[in-house]
Amino acid sequence: MSLSHPLTFAAAGAALDRATHLRPDSAGLLAGAEARLLPQWREKALIDLSGPRPALGWLPADPALVAAAAEAPVFLGLYQGAPRFTADYSALDEDGAAARFGAGRKFLDLRSVAGELPLADAALLATAKGVLGWHLIHPFCARCGQPSTPEDGGWRRRCTGCGALHFPRTDPVVIMLVTRAENVLLARQRIWPPGLYSLLAGFMEPGETIEDAVRRETLEETAIRVGRVRFIASQPWPFPASLMLGCWAEALTDEISIDAEIEDALWLPRRQVAQLLAGGHPRFASPRRDAIARWLMTAWVAGEIGEPTIAGGNPVAAR
Ligand SMILES: [Zn+2]
Repeated sequence: MSLSHPLTFAAAGAALDRATHLRPDSAGLLAGAEARLLPQWREKALIDLSGPRPALGWLPADPALVAAAAEAPVFLGLYQGAPRFTADYSALDEDGAAARFGAGRKFLDLRSVAGELPLADAALLATAKGVLGWHLIHPFCARCGQPSTPEDGGWRRRCTGCGALHFPRTDPVVIMLVTRAENVLLARQRIWPPGLYSLLAGFMEPGETIEDAVRRETLEETAIRVGRVRFIASQPWPFPASLMLGCWAEALTDEISIDAEIEDALWLPRRQVAQLLAGGHPRFASPRRDAIARWLMTAWVAGEIGEPTIAGGNPVAAR
């Protein structure tokens, strides 16, 4: 699909060659002069602020830096010809972290900086944050409770007690652009900033298809019944480990009745959605620039997603 708006995180993900065949020998790569390491500290990543725009704060993977990491660095893959690693330095206190990595660099949260980074950097950071975040909360075996240790370049952990293998997880979340003729279904949660309206979303459950999850979540949250569902595009969202599955869905009913999870839900006409996206709506504010919700809404306003115009096929799926 060729939409004019690139999807942050997902669109540039292909820039990283994961080089999975090199994972077993990643310790050798880490010792090479070309190796680069991205430090992370308390769920923030090192960002280089010395240039005209922020960029990832890659450092040469020298032995002292590697030795100071909490565990063996994770091998992310090859990018621009160099082996890329990430590692955790959360054990340092705030002053220690600033002293070690400061001078034009700062630890920043991905949410605050993703929109400013080059697309390839944002995609790399989503991978780095996702996989390291998994290590931080999985030090013990889920089966027997004994400590586990990383292996295969940090892409799995092995239990020191029972030997069970554990792999980084990704939690699928459906996010749906539900339309009814010229209207889209928008909702807001109580905890969101005032005026912000976005698409419905929810975690998939075991045994569900994507289509079932879209229908269930839409019905639960708004009492709207959904017919056809089409998958459009996906976006990794490492807060902490989601994969957003962007779908278009056709509403079969109009009457909204909201669930306790939702503060408000409404049908907004296409013309007003365009106004909202442009930042000029008097009541409603748009989802953040790098969110797939905004991307889906933009594509729908442009007529690139929506009601199939040919019997039996969606114009998007046919491309
Ligand atoms: Zn175990």
